Amino acid sequence: MSLIVQKFGGTSLSDDHSRSHVLRHIVREQQAGNGIVVVVSAMGRRGEPYATDSLLELVSSRGKYDLHAREKDLLISCGEVISAAVLCGLLNAQGIASVVLTGGQAGIITNARFGAARIERIVPDAIIQHVAEGRVVIVTGFQGMTEQGDITTLGRGGSDTSATALGAALEASVVDIYTDVDGILTADPRWVSDARPLSVVSYEEICNMAHNGAKVIHPRAVEIAMRASIPVRVRSTFSEGEGTLVTRSEKIRSNGQWSDRTVTGLAHVRGISQIAVGNPQVSADLQSRIFRAMASHGISVDFINVIPTGVHYTVSQPDTELAVQLLRDLGYKPIIRMDCAKVSIIGGGMNEEPGVMAGIVETLTNLGIPILQSADSNTTIWVLIPESELAVAMQALHRTFELHLTYD
Ligand code: ADP
Ligand code: MG
Repeated sequence: MSLIVQKFGGTSLSDDHSRSHVLRHIVREQQAGNGIVVVVSAMGRRGEPYATDSLLELVSSRGKYDLHAREKDLLISCGEVISAAVLCGLLNAQGIASVVLTGGQAGIITNARFGAARIERIVPDAIIQHVAEGRVVIVTGFQGMTEQGDITTLGRGGSDTSATALGAALEASVVDIYTDVDGILTADPRWVSDARPLSVVSYEEICNMAHNGAKVIHPRAVEIAMRASIPVRVRSTFSEGEGTLVTRSEKIRSNGQWSDRTVTGLAHVRGISQIAVGNPQVSADLQSRIFRAMASHGISVDFINVIPTGVHYTVSQPDTELAVQLLRDLGYKPIIRMDCAKVSIIGGGMNEEPGVMAGIVETLTNLGIPILQSADSNTTIWVLIPESELAVAMQALHRTFELHLTYD
């Protein structure tokens, strides 16, 4: 019997209507003869009663609560427990035998980094037993358990990670990530109105998109699936579409699906500050002093550009004040540009096709949008632009690379 992992996100579980769609997908795959493991997120989004953010708000009054990381994890792990129990009740009422396992009961063992725990191993015996006995197994996403039995959570997007980690441990035939869009789109639909779903992307492409701001699936989840070579599909809870298949790049290339695809998609990150430290403040160890100071204060830096006369790099907006303070403490006078955005142009077929950078520069220059910094790899070109120009830049680049047309 082949085994399928199905993960349902918050909006897919938020009310009776959406849960009826969830049931439909479970029933369809079960009737096709598959063993089913369902991974659930907490119901709904911020503002809705059982969403993770709503649970956090319960203890958010400053000075009134002092909840330690361990107990905070206990609190926020409840969202998934609630949605799993509700779904279990619905399935049983339909005559579909199901059982709920918490992360710990499902054998997901993590380290003790509360709030951002890493999965160390999975002992899936209980899941295998229940599936063999014909039950749909519902696992609470986003959580695990330490060796000592403490409940941990995996950080934002953690249910995606639960799903692919279980898929890998169970050698599932596929991990289906059900969400509120028709798959992985060529760009965030909230920013590019003619973004369209892709039928296939490589692990590397979606990993790049996710690392660069596309929140449709967590990059760690993709990395786990890639390492285990488990296919992932990102698809809609609310339609019958096949969604986007995430698979190995060699497979896509050998199918000829990259033949006319130079750029696969765009992603973006907002709220970035550009920092320049330059002449006449140069000293021999300028770079190492700066980056050591940033690293020792947990500030992650990006777009690092070291030239003989100085250093340019970016930090996220919330880190800016501390970064500037650290630089001043070192005796530098940094120049700061706030409100920047990073646009990433991503494509596994990019390195075979010259002229992508030229297309980007031309598009932005014609619109009078300054490129504040750029960088590139085999499969991605990044440009830093003023955030105020983001929507125009994304729409235009999307058109330049004809991402609004259907190739596949
Ligand atoms: P879930 O609750 O199901 O996990 P998420 O909000 O985490 O859902 O992810 C789905 C959302 O990701 C979509 O509603 C969409 O707004 C956003 N998104 C951003 N970039 C993309 C992209 N390239 N393709 C698809 N969705 C994207
Ligand atoms: Mg998500």
